[in-house]
Amino acid sequence: MESVNNLTMSELSEATQYGLHYAADIIRGSRKAVVLTGAGISTASGIPDFRSPGSGLWEHFDPFEVASLTTFRHNPENFYQWMRGLASLILEAQPNPAHYSLATLQQLGYLQTIITQNIDNLHQRAGAQNVIEVHGSLETMTCCGCYQSMQARDYVVAYLERAELPYCPKCGAVLKPDLVLMGEQLPARIWLQALQASKNCDLMIVAGSSLEVLPVAGLPMRALENGAHLILINYSNTYLDVRADVVFHEDVAGILPLLVEQVTQADLTGV
Ligand SMILES: [Zn+2]
Repeated sequence: MESVNNLTMSELSEATQYGLHYAADIIRGSRKAVVLTGAGISTASGIPDFRSPGSGLWEHFDPFEVASLTTFRHNPENFYQWMRGLASLILEAQPNPAHYSLATLQQLGYLQTIITQNIDNLHQRAGAQNVIEVHGSLETMTCCGCYQSMQARDYVVAYLERAELPYCPKCGAVLKPDLVLMGEQLPARIWLQALQASKNCDLMIVAGSSLEVLPVAGLPMRALENGAHLILINYSNTYLDVRADVVFHEDVAGILPLLVEQVTQADLTGV
């Protein structure tokens, strides 16, 4: 675990403190808030962005080759070798304060839906519900022969421990994790759910996404077009910074707990 999430209000700039008050007001005034999360929300849990070169996960691999559907079909061994690093990080990872904060906001009734680009299941493990995983998940696998769906954990552990490739117990074909690979379309049903939630929300919070991976990066735009508020929490700039009500260029694992504190304090004082 990196040392994050120990931010206190007094350590923050006046502008950030004001931003937190303002963002808390927007959250309290919303009825149909949606959050969109990206790799930045899981880095404090030890999982780098597996789509970014420089993450360490690409050192010996060309991402466009190994994590593509074509490679998987022709050479699943290569794919699984690449996936090994990512899978072991995900198996060991624990939710961090950012995941717990979003689950709390949801339990308090301030957040309807979580759309995530992550495949690590950490939102659910923090207690969140109604999570739309637009890039899939490592929790389940599908048989490439008979399309049977199954729980992935035992197969992933068997691969990590004994390098056993996962094969379907019914038809013997290789099993593919339900991740969206390079060059693969997002599953239509899930994509439509995310699009619908974005169009219908009155507030979108982007947490830990640089909004660079299409088509997901376009979802906040759909929300804005329908008059929603936008709160951005991400270390680096995004193309929508200029359109947002509030922007935090800070660590999400530090900011989100403070934001929840602001929302609930206002509840207690009735402000
Ligand atoms: Zn099968």
